[in-house]
Amino acid sequence: MRRRDFLQLMALAGVVGLTPAFSFANTNPERHQMIEVWRGRIKAILARDRLPILDAQATYVAGKTNVERMLGYMDDLNIAQIAFAPAYDLTAGSALELQRSHPEYFIPTTNSGEWNGWWDDPARFLAAVRQQLQSGQYFFMGEHEFRHYPSPEQVRAGRSERDITVDITGPAGQGLFQLSEEFGVAFQLHYEIEDRLLPALETMLTNYPKAKVIWCHLAMIRYPERSSRYGPAYVRSLIERFPGLHFDLAVPPPASVYGPSGARDSTLYANGRLRDDWKAVLEAHPDRFLAASDYRPPIEGAYPKIIGHQRELILDVLSERSRHSIAYQNAWRLMTGEVWAG
Ligand SMILES: [Zn+2]
Repeated sequence: MRRRDFLQLMALAGVVGLTPAFSFANTNPERHQMIEVWRGRIKAILARDRLPILDAQATYVAGKTNVERMLGYMDDLNIAQIAFAPAYDLTAGSALELQRSHPEYFIPTTNSGEWNGWWDDPARFLAAVRQQLQSGQYFFMGEHEFRHYPSPEQVRAGRSERDITVDITGPAGQGLFQLSEEFGVAFQLHYEIEDRLLPALETMLTNYPKAKVIWCHLAMIRYPERSSRYGPAYVRSLIERFPGLHFDLAVPPPASVYGPSGARDSTLYANGRLRDDWKAVLEAHPDRFLAASDYRPPIEGAYPKIIGHQRELILDVLSERSRHSIAYQNAWRLMTGEVWAG
């Protein structure tokens, strides 16, 4: 008997309670069917002796994302699925439409908090996310910006309004961490790496131990003079203290320079390679890191290059076990509540 069938039987018998992820998977036939379709595509890629990637962080913009082009990239690059979080769509209905049109490829993800719908009115935004989670049809929550410096393309476009601060310990942060605990669904966090911001994050992780948090952009440091504490040892200590904390690997390539500071912002690398000390953390805790592209429409054409970097510079240099965990199995566990079992 499979573990989840066993748990369901026990729950029916009143022996054990089910976490939300398990109960969704078992009681919602539509959800169960989606999971089986995704499993089939992952297995098909494995059967060709390729490493599937489940892209855990990507932003969909209806009318701007070229879906046909992305489907082609996914087939060419062995991307099993993309967790596409829609931006500019408070209902996140477009995420469900995408999944219905291309069931194997896309994972319904709640709204991406990368537009003013999030930072102008977090309470309204989170009320919409709650409804989405209550429907049982969403598997991830999108990226939420609490501290965000303008991205390179926003800097080039002079878009200084994308310099965002939302207090992570305030109502917006509390509401988001609570939703994750309540529904057992992971959310993505955009939070720049600065000494003065770390205590607030640690407070939230302490206060919401069951929240599933994916801190995006591992080791992307845009102003090095503001960050003296963060590094492999600090990340390792966070992992050891906070069981719900994960990190994604959506990082710029080794030579990337962040214009406003002039800093090489991708500190995972040295001399064009994954640093040994970072590699040791990934190998010690391979269940805490996730492959991700940070796709958004302005960089669509670079998707193959971004995935190529992630494979060559990170996944290919890890052990077999770590590579499979990070490429798709951890995302699978977070979104289904089950360990990947083939
Ligand atoms: Zn981000």
